[in-house]
Amino acid sequence: MLSWRDEMQVTDVHIHVQPWWELKPDVLAAMTRGRSDLDELQKIMKSPAALLRRLDADGIARAVLVNYPSPQHMGFTDRANEYVAQYCREAPDRLIPMGGVDPRFAEDPAEDVRRAATAGVRALKVHPPHMGFAANAYLDGLDGLRAVYEEAQRLRLPVMIHTGTSVFPGARSRLGEPIAVDDVAVDFPELRIVLAHGGRPLWMEQAFFLVRRFPHVLMDVSSIPPRSVLRYFPRLAEVAHKVLYGSDWPSPGVKSMADNLRDFQTLPLPEEAMTRILETNARALFP
Ligand SMILES: [Zn+2]
Repeated sequence: MLSWRDEMQVTDVHIHVQPWWELKPDVLAAMTRGRSDLDELQKIMKSPAALLRRLDADGIARAVLVNYPSPQHMGFTDRANEYVAQYCREAPDRLIPMGGVDPRFAEDPAEDVRRAATAGVRALKVHPPHMGFAANAYLDGLDGLRAVYEEAQRLRLPVMIHTGTSVFPGARSRLGEPIAVDDVAVDFPELRIVLAHGGRPLWMEQAFFLVRRFPHVLMDVSSIPPRSVLRYFPRLAEVAHKVLYGSDWPSPGVKSMADNLRDFQTLPLPEEAMTRILETNARALFP
């Protein structure tokens, strides 16, 4: 007999299917070190059909494909938007394209946000440790970042902001401190914000505070080892209506979407909380 766990239509809101061929060699090395599934991954980066097969095998109904330009740190350019929009067009009911605009390299960031949205991008990623500015750097003169948030708010594009550390070469983890998002939530009250990784592993309390404080701030639990999620967030069930399931696959340390999901599903959370985190919250954010 199927249990409610098997019948759930799970959305993984945080996977990285990206144009790997744009990565800098040392970043690609960090990304792929020790993996035994590289042939499949190389295929998936180019083939939606290959990804859909993987999602089916792993029990994932829908996924958000997280992309963002990071020319200095990672190598990704603003072609990432076109790439992910086109990729997801193959299965719009299952694949949700997330793109981004790096305000330091864009001539007209608001226009770039509009162009991305027109191409089909449905959410934006801001990655402070990989982009080299704080999430609230518009307060210190980075006007382009204000334009990105403003335009996203106007177009109702959710913005995912990386919070927590990053181990990729050149990443500045200091910029991943969640409390900088406090300003963003105050200044853009209608903007829907997702704190990626819940500030792991240094700043979970800040993330938890922001999620409780602001009606439009959510967080995902991606890249937190699922079995440790409740150690990091003992009161997770209290904010279950603001939490999204994500894996961060295939980042270093995340070997399999299926294992990640299975481990998460073994957590002693009430059924209602589990359903919200795995299924309904993501449906509401990405209808
Ligand atoms: Zn990620």
